[in-house]
Amino acid sequence: MPSHRIIAIDGPAASGKSSVALALAQRLGFSHVNSGAMYRAVTWHVLQRSVDVHQPAAVVAAVEQSKIVCELVDSQSRILINDQDPTSHLRDDNVNRAVSIVSSIPRVRQILVPRMRECAKADNVVMEGRDIGSVVFPETPFKFYIDASPEVRVQRRRAEGQRDEIAARDRADSSRAASPLVVAPDAEVIDTSTLTIEGVVNEIMRRLKQKGLPI
Ligand code: C5P
Repeated sequence: MPSHRIIAIDGPAASGKSSVALALAQRLGFSHVNSGAMYRAVTWHVLQRSVDVHQPAAVVAAVEQSKIVCELVDSQSRILINDQDPTSHLRDDNVNRAVSIVSSIPRVRQILVPRMRECAKADNVVMEGRDIGSVVFPETPFKFYIDASPEVRVQRRRAEGQRDEIAARDRADSSRAASPLVVAPDAEVIDTSTLTIEGVVNEIMRRLKQKGLPI
């Protein structure tokens, strides 16, 4: 059982998780860990090496051969692969298209999940993803599932100027065998369709207090 506090924020693409998780972490003075960025970084790396993401054995070989470092820098998670920082490429179109395929490979998850757990040994964390409350930290009492209507989520991605087939990604993430996107039975569900980021953070803070987090 880790000694630090863990707040799990799961939800589909463009549900507002990242903005909410970051703002919540800042409000609480916790570190913010973006687990999606880890899957994106690994995806970028295998694409760089021209690996066919539809060949799981080739993807696994490329990932196993690379040096992956996940760390907290200024209260933010950062991932380095073979000493390269892929941050500026994490939302590239080809990464958006391939990330759900790479993240569905069980061995890739087996490599990255321990890195996520390591982050929580270093600090109190707000960690966002798809399976944080269900698989990575099922024992945390603080778990939230953030959602929004499909129309609102598509609009949010467009407003960011991104080409991201979120419906296809959600389908893939929800239907895969390995750690699919699910609502953990003990997660608090919040629909953000009509709420501002601050409104969602206030609501989560209220529920965290109710659950006994000393804030
Ligand atoms: O959160 P974000 O949209 O950046 O995540 C990108 C992708 O990474 C997701 O569509 C999903 O395929 C994968 N992911 C995952 N498990 C997590 C976080 C992200 O499979 N905990």
